[in-house]
Amino acid sequence: MSSPDVIVVGAGVLGLCTAAELGARGHAVTVLDPGAPNASAAAAGMIAPAMESLIDQLTPAHAALLARGRDLWPAFADRSGLELHREGAEWRGPDPEADLSRLADLGFAAELRSDGVFTPDDWRVDAVESLSLLSSVPGLTRQTAQVTAIRRESEEWLLQAEDGRKWLAPTVVVATGAAAALPGLPESLERVISAIRPIRGQLTPIRCQRPAQVVRVPGLYAAPSGDGALAGATMEFDNRSTLPDAEAARRQTEGVLALLGCEGVAREPRVGIRGASADGLPMAGPTAEPGLHLALAPRRNGWLLGPMVGRIVADGIEGRASLPDAPALDPLRFA
Ligand SMILES: Cc1cc2nc3c(=O)[nH]c(=O)nc-3n(C[C@H](O)[C@H](O)[C@H](O)COP(=O)(O)OP(=O)(O)OC[C@H]3O[C@@H](n4cnc5c(N)ncnc54)[C@H](O)[C@@H]3O)c2cc1C
Repeated sequence: MSSPDVIVVGAGVLGLCTAAELGARGHAVTVLDPGAPNASAAAAGMIAPAMESLIDQLTPAHAALLARGRDLWPAFADRSGLELHREGAEWRGPDPEADLSRLADLGFAAELRSDGVFTPDDWRVDAVESLSLLSSVPGLTRQTAQVTAIRRESEEWLLQAEDGRKWLAPTVVVATGAAAALPGLPESLERVISAIRPIRGQLTPIRCQRPAQVVRVPGLYAAPSGDGALAGATMEFDNRSTLPDAEAARRQTEGVLALLGCEGVAREPRVGIRGASADGLPMAGPTAEPGLHLALAPRRNGWLLGPMVGRIVADGIEGRASLPDAPALDPLRFA
Protein backbone atom coordinates (compact mmCIF):
# COMPACT_ATOMS: atom_id res chain seq x y z
CA MET A 1 0.00 0.00 0.00
CA SER A 2 1.37 3.47 -0.86
CA SER A 3 0.86 6.54 1.37
CA PRO A 4 1.34 9.90 -0.36
CA ASP A 5 0.50 13.28 1.28
CA VAL A 6 -2.38 13.85 -1.09
CA ILE A 7 -4.30 11.63 -3.48
CA VAL A 8 -6.10 13.28 -6.38
CA VAL A 9 -8.76 11.08 -7.97
CA GLY A 10 -9.14 12.11 -11.61
CA ALA A 11 -6.58 13.33 -14.16
CA GLY A 12 -8.69 15.89 -15.99
CA VAL A 13 -7.67 19.52 -16.08
CA LEU A 14 -9.01 20.19 -12.58
CA GLY A 15 -7.27 17.19 -10.99
CA LEU A 16 -3.98 17.89 -12.77
CA CYS A 17 -3.98 21.66 -12.12
CA THR A 18 -4.58 20.90 -8.43
CA ALA A 19 -1.84 18.25 -8.41
CA ALA A 20 0.58 20.63 -10.19
CA GLU A 21 -0.14 23.40 -7.68
CA LEU A 22 0.38 21.02 -4.75
CA GLY A 23 3.54 19.57 -6.34
CA ALA A 24 4.96 23.08 -6.74
CA ARG A 25 4.33 23.66 -3.02
CA GLY A 26 6.34 20.56 -2.11
CA HIS A 27 3.57 18.01 -1.49
CA ALA A 28 3.96 14.39 -2.64
CA VAL A 29 0.87 13.88 -4.78
CA THR A 30 -0.46 10.71 -6.36
CA VAL A 31 -3.02 11.06 -9.15
CA LEU A 32 -5.26 8.06 -9.85
CA ASP A 33 -7.09 7.78 -13.18
CA PRO A 34 -8.01 4.89 -15.50
CA GLY A 35 -6.56 6.87 -18.44
CA ALA A 36 -9.54 6.79 -20.80
CA PRO A 37 -10.36 9.93 -22.85
CA ASN A 38 -12.00 12.62 -20.70
CA ALA A 39 -13.71 15.98 -21.19
CA SER A 40 -10.44 17.83 -20.74
CA ALA A 41 -8.80 16.00 -23.66
CA ALA A 42 -11.84 16.60 -25.88
CA ALA A 43 -11.77 20.36 -25.23
CA ALA A 44 -10.59 23.17 -27.49
CA GLY A 45 -8.45 24.60 -24.65
CA MET A 46 -9.83 28.12 -25.00
CA ILE A 47 -9.14 30.42 -22.06
CA ALA A 48 -11.93 32.71 -23.03
CA PRO A 49 -13.36 34.99 -20.33
CA ALA A 50 -14.45 37.66 -22.82
CA MET A 51 -16.28 35.47 -25.35
CA GLU A 52 -17.78 33.18 -22.71
CA SER A 53 -19.16 36.24 -20.88
CA LEU A 54 -20.54 37.73 -24.09
CA ILE A 55 -22.04 34.56 -25.55
CA ASP A 56 -23.46 33.23 -22.28
CA GLN A 57 -24.68 36.72 -21.26
CA LEU A 58 -22.96 36.39 -17.90
CA THR A 59 -23.36 38.92 -15.10
CA PRO A 60 -20.52 41.44 -14.59
CA ALA A 61 -19.55 39.62 -11.36
CA HIS A 62 -19.31 36.25 -13.13
CA ALA A 63 -17.38 37.80 -16.03
CA ALA A 64 -14.92 39.43 -13.62
CA LEU A 65 -14.35 36.07 -11.89
CA LEU A 66 -13.57 34.46 -15.26
CA ALA A 67 -11.13 37.30 -16.05
CA ARG A 68 -9.36 36.78 -12.72
CA GLY A 69 -9.18 33.04 -13.50
CA ARG A 70 -7.54 33.87 -16.84
CA ASP A 71 -5.06 36.20 -15.10
CA LEU A 72 -3.63 33.26 -13.12
CA TRP A 73 -2.63 31.52 -16.36
CA PRO A 74 0.69 33.21 -17.31
CA ALA A 75 2.44 32.31 -14.03
CA PHE A 76 0.85 28.84 -13.94
CA ALA A 77 1.82 28.08 -17.57
CA ASP A 78 5.34 29.32 -17.00
CA ARG A 79 5.85 27.20 -13.91
CA SER A 80 4.31 24.06 -15.45
CA GLY A 81 6.02 24.40 -18.85
CA LEU A 82 2.79 24.91 -20.85
CA GLU A 83 2.62 27.05 -23.96
CA LEU A 84 0.05 29.83 -23.73
CA HIS A 85 -1.21 31.21 -27.05
CA ARG A 86 -2.36 34.79 -26.75
CA GLU A 87 -3.75 35.48 -30.23
CA GLY A 88 -7.13 36.77 -29.01
CA ALA A 89 -10.48 35.80 -30.52
CA GLU A 90 -13.02 37.14 -32.97
CA TRP A 91 -16.82 37.13 -32.67
CA ARG A 92 -19.05 37.53 -35.70
CA GLY A 93 -22.57 38.20 -34.43
CA PRO A 94 -25.56 40.05 -35.88
CA ASP A 95 -24.85 43.32 -33.98
CA PRO A 96 -21.10 44.03 -33.66
CA GLU A 97 -21.63 47.56 -32.23
CA ALA A 98 -23.74 46.16 -29.38
CA ASP A 99 -21.23 43.36 -28.76
CA LEU A 100 -18.39 45.87 -28.63
CA SER A 101 -20.17 47.96 -26.07
CA ARG A 102 -21.18 44.89 -23.99
CA LEU A 103 -17.55 43.69 -23.91
CA ALA A 104 -16.39 47.18 -22.88
CA ASP A 105 -19.04 47.30 -20.12
CA LEU A 106 -17.72 43.99 -18.80
CA GLY A 107 -14.18 45.39 -18.73
CA PHE A 108 -12.74 43.53 -21.72
CA ALA A 109 -10.62 45.12 -24.45
CA ALA A 110 -12.26 44.88 -27.88
CA GLU A 111 -12.27 46.53 -31.29
CA LEU A 112 -14.43 46.45 -34.39
CA ARG A 113 -12.98 44.60 -37.36
CA SER A 114 -14.41 44.17 -40.86
CA ASP A 115 -16.08 40.85 -39.94
CA GLY A 116 -17.06 41.50 -36.33
CA VAL A 117 -15.48 42.18 -32.95
CA PHE A 118 -11.94 41.21 -31.92
CA THR A 119 -10.73 40.85 -28.32
CA PRO A 120 -7.10 40.29 -27.28
CA ASP A 121 -8.37 39.11 -23.88
CA ASP A 122 -9.05 35.47 -24.81
CA TRP A 123 -6.15 33.04 -24.94
CA ARG A 124 -5.69 29.34 -25.60
CA VAL A 125 -3.66 26.22 -24.82
CA ASP A 126 -3.41 22.92 -26.67
CA ALA A 127 -5.53 20.71 -24.41
CA VAL A 128 -3.98 17.32 -25.23
CA GLU A 129 -0.39 18.56 -25.06
CA SER A 130 -1.08 20.47 -21.82
CA LEU A 131 -2.59 17.40 -20.11
CA SER A 132 0.50 15.41 -20.99
CA LEU A 133 2.85 18.14 -19.67
CA LEU A 134 0.83 18.55 -16.48
CA SER A 135 1.03 14.79 -15.85
CA SER A 136 4.80 15.00 -15.55
CA VAL A 137 5.34 18.06 -13.34
CA PRO A 138 7.68 17.53 -10.32
CA GLY A 139 6.09 16.09 -7.17
CA LEU A 140 3.36 14.22 -9.04
CA THR A 141 3.08 10.46 -9.44
CA ARG A 142 0.41 9.18 -11.78
CA GLN A 143 -1.05 5.69 -11.51
CA THR A 144 -3.54 3.97 -13.77
CA ALA A 145 -6.46 3.04 -11.54
CA GLN A 146 -10.22 3.21 -11.41
CA VAL A 147 -11.12 3.94 -7.78
CA THR A 148 -14.03 1.75 -6.74
CA ALA A 149 -14.28 2.53 -3.02
CA ILE A 150 -13.28 5.15 -0.47
CA ARG A 151 -13.64 4.97 3.31
CA ARG A 152 -12.32 6.60 6.47
CA GLU A 153 -9.78 4.44 8.32
CA SER A 154 -7.47 5.41 11.23
CA GLU A 155 -8.01 9.15 10.61
CA GLU A 156 -7.02 8.76 6.96
CA TRP A 157 -8.80 7.94 3.71
CA LEU A 158 -8.43 4.46 2.26
CA LEU A 159 -8.96 4.16 -1.47
CA GLN A 160 -9.31 0.91 -3.32
CA ALA A 161 -9.02 0.22 -7.05
CA GLU A 162 -10.91 -2.32 -9.14
CA ASP A 163 -7.90 -4.68 -9.10
CA GLY A 164 -7.60 -4.63 -5.28
CA ARG A 165 -4.71 -2.12 -5.00
CA LYS A 166 -5.04 0.26 -2.03
CA TRP A 167 -3.82 3.73 -1.09
CA LEU A 168 -3.97 5.52 2.25
CA ALA A 169 -3.67 9.30 2.60
CA PRO A 170 -4.72 12.00 5.05
CA THR A 171 -5.98 14.15 2.20
CA VAL A 172 -8.01 13.27 -0.89
CA VAL A 173 -9.15 15.54 -3.73
CA VAL A 174 -12.15 14.25 -5.68
CA ALA A 175 -11.76 15.52 -9.27
CA THR A 176 -13.81 12.91 -11.07
CA GLY A 177 -15.53 15.16 -13.62
CA ALA A 178 -19.11 14.25 -14.44
CA ALA A 179 -18.74 10.67 -13.10
CA ALA A 180 -20.96 9.23 -10.37
CA ALA A 181 -19.88 9.81 -6.76
CA LEU A 182 -17.19 7.38 -5.54
CA PRO A 183 -18.80 4.48 -3.65
CA GLY A 184 -18.35 4.98 0.09
CA LEU A 185 -18.41 8.80 0.14
CA PRO A 186 -20.52 10.22 2.97
CA GLU A 187 -24.16 10.66 1.95
CA SER A 188 -24.06 14.49 2.18
CA LEU A 189 -21.27 14.57 -0.43
CA GLU A 190 -22.87 11.88 -2.53
CA ARG A 191 -25.89 14.22 -2.81
CA VAL A 192 -23.74 17.22 -3.80
CA ILE A 193 -21.91 15.22 -6.49
CA SER A 194 -25.05 13.56 -7.83
CA ALA A 195 -26.52 17.04 -8.48
CA ILE A 196 -23.77 17.77 -11.05
CA ARG A 197 -25.44 17.98 -14.44
CA PRO A 198 -23.79 16.24 -17.40
CA ILE A 199 -23.45 18.24 -20.63
CA ARG A 200 -22.19 16.29 -23.64
CA GLY A 201 -19.86 18.16 -25.96
CA GLN A 202 -18.53 17.16 -29.38
CA LEU A 203 -16.01 18.92 -31.53
CA THR A 204 -14.58 17.91 -34.90
CA PRO A 205 -10.89 18.42 -35.76
CA ILE A 206 -10.43 19.42 -39.40
CA ARG A 207 -7.28 19.42 -41.52
CA CYS A 208 -7.60 22.77 -43.30
CA GLN A 209 -6.23 26.29 -43.40
CA ARG A 210 -5.38 27.20 -39.80
CA PRO A 211 -7.23 30.31 -38.55
CA ALA A 212 -5.01 33.08 -37.12
CA GLN A 213 -7.09 33.07 -33.92
CA VAL A 214 -10.30 31.59 -32.56
CA VAL A 215 -13.26 32.67 -34.71
CA ARG A 216 -16.73 32.34 -33.18
CA VAL A 217 -20.21 32.75 -34.65
CA PRO A 218 -23.56 31.88 -33.03
CA GLY A 219 -23.53 28.13 -32.30
CA LEU A 220 -20.05 27.39 -33.69
CA TYR A 221 -16.34 28.18 -33.35
CA ALA A 222 -13.14 27.43 -35.20
CA ALA A 223 -10.11 27.22 -32.90
CA PRO A 224 -6.57 26.99 -34.32
CA SER A 225 -5.01 23.56 -33.80
CA GLY A 226 -2.05 21.70 -35.32
CA ASP A 227 -2.58 21.60 -39.07
CA GLY A 228 -6.07 23.06 -39.06
CA ALA A 229 -8.99 23.91 -36.81
CA LEU A 230 -11.21 22.46 -34.11
CA ALA A 231 -14.87 22.89 -35.00
CA GLY A 232 -16.96 23.02 -31.86
CA ALA A 233 -18.76 22.44 -29.77
CA THR A 234 -22.17 20.98 -29.02
CA MET A 235 -23.89 21.58 -25.65
CA GLU A 236 -26.20 18.60 -25.03
CA PHE A 237 -27.71 18.66 -21.57
CA ASP A 238 -28.29 15.38 -19.69
CA ASN A 239 -26.62 13.37 -22.45
CA ARG A 240 -23.80 11.03 -21.39
CA SER A 241 -23.17 9.28 -24.70
CA THR A 242 -19.51 9.30 -25.69
CA LEU A 243 -20.22 7.92 -29.16
CA PRO A 244 -19.47 10.41 -31.97
CA ASP A 245 -22.51 11.85 -33.73
CA ALA A 246 -21.82 11.78 -37.48
CA GLU A 247 -24.52 14.31 -38.35
CA ALA A 248 -23.18 16.85 -35.84
CA ALA A 249 -19.65 16.27 -37.19
CA ARG A 250 -20.89 16.96 -40.73
CA ARG A 251 -22.60 20.20 -39.62
CA GLN A 252 -19.52 21.34 -37.69
CA THR A 253 -17.21 20.59 -40.62
CA GLU A 254 -19.37 22.35 -43.21
CA GLY A 255 -19.94 25.30 -40.88
CA VAL A 256 -16.25 25.84 -40.14
CA LEU A 257 -15.10 25.38 -43.74
CA ALA A 258 -17.68 27.99 -44.82
CA LEU A 259 -16.59 30.28 -41.97
CA LEU A 260 -12.91 30.04 -42.92
CA GLY A 261 -13.61 29.99 -46.67
CA CYS A 262 -11.39 26.98 -47.36
CA GLU A 263 -11.45 23.26 -48.10
CA GLY A 264 -10.56 20.57 -45.62
CA VAL A 265 -10.89 17.03 -44.34
CA ALA A 266 -12.67 16.13 -41.10
CA ARG A 267 -11.01 13.83 -38.59
CA GLU A 268 -12.55 11.64 -35.87
CA PRO A 269 -14.75 13.82 -33.60
CA ARG A 270 -13.77 14.31 -29.94
CA VAL A 271 -16.49 13.82 -27.35
CA GLY A 272 -16.48 14.70 -23.65
CA ILE A 273 -18.99 14.99 -20.84
CA ARG A 274 -18.72 18.28 -18.95
CA GLY A 275 -20.02 18.49 -15.40
CA ALA A 276 -21.98 21.60 -14.37
CA SER A 277 -23.09 22.93 -11.00
CA ALA A 278 -26.38 24.80 -10.60
CA ASP A 279 -24.73 28.24 -10.93
CA GLY A 280 -22.19 27.23 -13.60
CA LEU A 281 -19.17 27.80 -11.35
CA PRO A 282 -16.89 24.98 -10.17
CA MET A 283 -17.04 23.39 -6.73
CA ALA A 284 -13.53 23.80 -5.35
CA GLY A 285 -12.26 23.53 -1.81
CA PRO A 286 -12.76 21.67 1.46
CA THR A 287 -15.88 19.74 2.42
CA ALA A 288 -17.24 19.16 5.94
CA GLU A 289 -15.36 15.81 5.99
CA PRO A 290 -11.80 16.06 7.38
CA GLY A 291 -9.20 15.88 4.60
CA LEU A 292 -11.74 15.56 1.80
CA HIS A 293 -11.70 18.24 -0.90
CA LEU A 294 -13.56 18.71 -4.20
CA ALA A 295 -12.41 20.03 -7.60
CA LEU A 296 -15.48 19.52 -9.78
CA ALA A 297 -18.10 20.92 -12.17
CA PRO A 298 -16.52 23.81 -14.15
CA ARG A 299 -19.16 23.51 -16.93
CA ARG A 300 -17.52 24.69 -20.13
CA ASN A 301 -14.70 26.62 -18.48
CA GLY A 302 -12.56 23.86 -17.00
CA TRP A 303 -9.44 25.00 -18.85
CA LEU A 304 -10.05 28.67 -18.14
CA LEU A 305 -10.54 28.05 -14.41
CA GLY A 306 -8.05 25.19 -13.87
CA PRO A 307 -5.32 27.29 -12.19
CA MET A 308 -7.86 29.10 -10.01
CA VAL A 309 -9.41 25.80 -8.87
CA GLY A 310 -5.93 24.33 -8.22
CA ARG A 311 -4.93 27.31 -6.13
CA ILE A 312 -8.15 27.36 -4.06
CA VAL A 313 -8.03 23.60 -3.39
CA ALA A 314 -4.33 23.73 -2.44
CA ASP A 315 -4.95 26.67 -0.09
CA GLY A 316 -7.85 24.72 1.49
CA ILE A 317 -5.59 21.71 2.03
CA GLU A 318 -2.95 23.89 3.67
CA GLY A 319 -5.60 25.69 5.75
CA ARG A 320 -4.59 29.09 4.37
CA ALA A 321 -6.69 32.09 3.45
CA SER A 322 -7.30 31.80 -0.28
CA LEU A 323 -8.25 33.98 -3.22
CA PRO A 324 -11.18 36.40 -2.85
CA ASP A 325 -13.10 34.14 -5.28
CA ALA A 326 -12.89 31.08 -3.00
CA PRO A 327 -16.32 31.63 -1.36
CA ALA A 328 -18.02 31.74 -4.80
CA LEU A 329 -16.54 28.29 -5.51
CA ASP A 330 -17.21 26.81 -2.04
CA PRO A 331 -18.39 23.22 -2.65
CA LEU A 332 -20.86 23.51 0.22
CA ARG A 333 -22.69 26.56 -1.16
CA PHE A 334 -25.53 24.34 -2.36
CA ALA A 335 -25.73 22.17 0.76
C1 LIG B 1 -16.04 19.45 -26.77
C2 LIG B 1 -15.63 20.24 -25.57
C3 LIG B 1 -14.98 21.45 -25.74
C4 LIG B 1 -14.58 22.19 -24.63
N1 LIG B 1 -13.85 23.34 -24.82
C5 LIG B 1 -13.41 24.03 -23.73
C6 LIG B 1 -12.60 25.18 -23.89
O1 LIG B 1 -12.25 25.56 -25.00
N2 LIG B 1 -12.20 25.85 -22.78
C7 LIG B 1 -12.55 25.44 -21.51
O2 LIG B 1 -12.18 26.10 -20.53
N3 LIG B 1 -13.28 24.32 -21.33
C8 LIG B 1 -13.73 23.63 -22.41
N4 LIG B 1 -14.50 22.52 -22.24
C9 LIG B 1 -14.92 22.16 -20.88
C10 LIG B 1 -13.81 21.46 -20.18
O3 LIG B 1 -13.28 20.48 -21.02
C11 LIG B 1 -14.34 20.84 -18.90
O4 LIG B 1 -14.89 21.86 -18.09
C12 LIG B 1 -13.19 20.18 -18.15
O5 LIG B 1 -12.51 19.31 -18.99
C13 LIG B 1 -13.66 19.41 -16.94
O6 LIG B 1 -12.50 18.91 -16.32
P1 LIG B 1 -12.57 17.89 -15.13
O7 LIG B 1 -11.19 17.69 -14.67
O8 LIG B 1 -13.61 18.35 -14.15
O9 LIG B 1 -13.22 16.56 -15.77
P2 LIG B 1 -12.62 15.46 -16.76
O10 LIG B 1 -11.74 16.06 -17.79
O11 LIG B 1 -13.78 14.68 -17.23
O12 LIG B 1 -11.71 14.56 -15.84
C14 LIG B 1 -12.24 13.74 -14.83
C15 LIG B 1 -11.34 12.54 -14.70
O13 LIG B 1 -11.75 11.77 -13.57
C16 LIG B 1 -11.54 10.43 -13.87
N5 LIG B 1 -12.35 9.59 -13.00
C17 LIG B 1 -13.71 9.56 -12.89
N6 LIG B 1 -14.08 8.61 -12.00
C18 LIG B 1 -12.94 8.05 -11.54
C19 LIG B 1 -12.67 7.01 -10.60
N7 LIG B 1 -13.64 6.35 -9.97
N8 LIG B 1 -11.37 6.67 -10.36
C20 LIG B 1 -10.35 7.33 -10.99
N9 LIG B 1 -10.56 8.32 -11.89
C21 LIG B 1 -11.83 8.67 -12.15
C22 LIG B 1 -11.94 10.31 -15.34
O14 LIG B 1 -11.36 9.16 -15.92
C23 LIG B 1 -11.40 11.60 -15.90
O15 LIG B 1 -10.11 11.43 -16.45
C24 LIG B 1 -14.89 21.74 -23.32
C25 LIG B 1 -15.52 20.52 -23.16
C26 LIG B 1 -15.90 19.75 -24.26
C27 LIG B 1 -16.55 18.43 -24.04
